[in-house]
Amino acid sequence: MLRADVADVSAVDRLGLSELAPRVVQSEIRAMTVECDRVGGVNLAQGVCDTEVPAVVAEGATRAIRDGLNIYTRLDGIARLRNAIAAKVERTLGIAVDPDREVLVTSGTTGGFHAVAMALLNPGDEVLVFEPFYGYHANTLRSVRATAVPVALKEPDWALDLDTVRAAITPRTRAMVVNTPVNPCGKVFTRVELEGLAAIAQEFDLFIFTDEIYEHFIYGGVKHISPAMIPGMRERTIVMSGFSKTFSVTGWRVGYLLADAKWLGSIGYFHDLLYVCAPAPFQHGCADGVEQLGPEFYIDLAREHEAKRTMMVDALRAAGMTPHVPDGAYYVLASTGSLPGATAAEKARALLAKTGVAAVAGSAFFRPGKGEDLLRFCFAKKDADLAEACRRLKALAPK
Ligand code: PLP
Repeated sequence: MLRADVADVSAVDRLGLSELAPRVVQSEIRAMTVECDRVGGVNLAQGVCDTEVPAVVAEGATRAIRDGLNIYTRLDGIARLRNAIAAKVERTLGIAVDPDREVLVTSGTTGGFHAVAMALLNPGDEVLVFEPFYGYHANTLRSVRATAVPVALKEPDWALDLDTVRAAITPRTRAMVVNTPVNPCGKVFTRVELEGLAAIAQEFDLFIFTDEIYEHFIYGGVKHISPAMIPGMRERTIVMSGFSKTFSVTGWRVGYLLADAKWLGSIGYFHDLLYVCAPAPFQHGCADGVEQLGPEFYIDLAREHEAKRTMMVDALRAAGMTPHVPDGAYYVLASTGSLPGATAAEKARALLAKTGVAAVAGSAFFRPGKGEDLLRFCFAKKDADLAEACRRLKALAPK
């Protein structure tokens, strides 16, 4: 073949974004954070829990760095952490998992979900996500060319309607994402709801990918149930969780997933390609935490955040908004009432300008056109910062 035959390719524009790359990359949460910093406000927009890291966890990681535990770990994570996770899962969820074949330590819950999506989904597959949903779930699905299909939970209490779930299923549906407790609305799926979803998953042969990162942030005596606890669901359920929230270490990037050995090898293969392993010394810090922190640590964590939830809800009510009181996670979605603005993003900006409190536009958690009356407030903040935010919000109260 003559070189001239391919000369035409010089006309092709090769410098450009992929089809998948977003044209606008700044998320509303990041935009609000920048604006909040500019005006010196209190940031309740970002879901970063900036409370103190438990000493045993922080010291464990520091010691690991000093002891030279800084090299790559096995691709599925250090044995001590996998063993500790398996023991904890058995204690808290009543599920027996094999730490050598069914546990993968991941680079955060986010890294775990990405590897799951790469290993188990094909382009064009449809995956149900309950709305309101966590944006990363939908975007991760898009990044493997799968389609997130929103299934609305019904306000005011975000009830699940199984008929709506069935109606969303097509021959292309492969999975559903359950997030319990839910970011952003704080719904905690009940056993009855999960049994309903399990029956649908079994009938239509679907996976359930369940993100349980807020499992310990649970209030008012509500119980966290995992879909993996429903009889007959282990094989088709991938449980994803992590330490970012429980140990206040969002920047460490340590999470884990539980999956049937049949899937775990391929998920681990993609996790290795993406991240090689979760950061080694932080795996050691988390292992110390999981091994040494007993049930009272988790009870105190929930109790402390329940008090913050009450403060947040009271302040939003005083400010003339209508908060949806969450049963779990650490956010409150609130209807904004009289705040000016045609969209949630405008209302969030108006609130920041008036009070110096940053929240996220509710629309970030819905399909386009929905959630425009809602703002999401994160209450996992240091006591003084939350108190200051609540004081500022209360000043909005109609005089
Ligand atoms: N899953 C949900 C539902 C979240 O809200 C968040 C963070 O806000 C994450 C996962 C991120 O978890 P990780 O830090 O373990 O990647």
